[in-house]
Amino acid sequence: MTITRPIKTVDELADAGLIADRDREALDAVAERYAIAVTPDMARLIDRDDVNDPIARQFVPDAAELLMTPEERADPIGDHAHSPVEGIVHRYPDRVLLKAVHVCPVYCRFCFRREMVGPQGLGTLDPAAMTAAFDYIRGDDAIWEVILTGGDPLVLSPRRLRDILEQLADIDHVKIVRFHSRVPVVDPDRIDAALIEALKASGKTVYVALHANHPCELTTEARAACARLVDAGIVMVSQSVLLRGVNDDPAVLAELMKAFVETRVKPYYLHHPDLAPGTSHFRLSIEEGQAIVASLRGRISGLCQPTYILDIPGGYGKAEIGESSIRKTGEGCYSVSDYNGQEHIYPPRGA
Ligand code: SF4
Repeated sequence: MTITRPIKTVDELADAGLIADRDREALDAVAERYAIAVTPDMARLIDRDDVNDPIARQFVPDAAELLMTPEERADPIGDHAHSPVEGIVHRYPDRVLLKAVHVCPVYCRFCFRREMVGPQGLGTLDPAAMTAAFDYIRGDDAIWEVILTGGDPLVLSPRRLRDILEQLADIDHVKIVRFHSRVPVVDPDRIDAALIEALKASGKTVYVALHANHPCELTTEARAACARLVDAGIVMVSQSVLLRGVNDDPAVLAELMKAFVETRVKPYYLHHPDLAPGTSHFRLSIEEGQAIVASLRGRISGLCQPTYILDIPGGYGKAEIGESSIRKTGEGCYSVSDYNGQEHIYPPRGA
């Protein structure tokens, strides 16, 4: 069967041969809670005969998502605690997130914003909210970088993107515009001349942080899409999530990092999986993560080394959690320092 449109329902997953009939009842329950989308490019990559297929694991819903654990939380990285106006998250002095849209081309089953994205999510900022968001950015001259995230900002039309970026053009203290996106991998044809021109419409330095988790995502088409961005003067960095059953293997992770570097995407962040609801089947321990990351050293070039980080639950920001940056305080318990030097217990108490 040729798949030409995104798969968005349990019925469509069944028609595409991506789920078994016996799982439908449980997956209907998952679908009531969390959005589903698999692009044709990703559906084509899935090996239907491989029950451990790493692409299916990322995008095809699983009954395990119905299991919630006590430490999980709807807003695992504490966006709401740092949102002064709708659509803005201001966690660090020199940068803000601008969440213009809460729609994605794919819905990752481990998503840290899974309670906010999708058709039942927070939607798209209306014109009044966009104006308030720009006023906020304009009013704080410490804001050096604006990070468009969401949702995936590259689902917006080139015209919408241009409108947003032209607003940033007039704000002198903003020097960097960064986009967090999965589009170059999951829908590479979308990266065309019109979209690239729109991304550059602010006249600022533009970064695209590409989210990919397994080397097979870096297809010929995805690499060509990244090449179009880089050739246009856009700097690319990577972000990946360390996921059980996807990339929790030093050889797979090394191959992923090398694929990024070959594609002119500098490895940047490797995230420890967040405490998002219904995602415990993806989580590994910090000790397991540290061992995998440590094994990359010496195995592959320094260019290929990502920084292993934890978003501290509660909105305290990112902490590097390589072996030297985190202190074990008990069995399965750690103390991690935020960027102010304040220590936090992980997992949080009383969750
Ligand atoms: S693309 Fe990002 S925001 Fe969207 S579902 Fe995946 S992880 Fe979540």
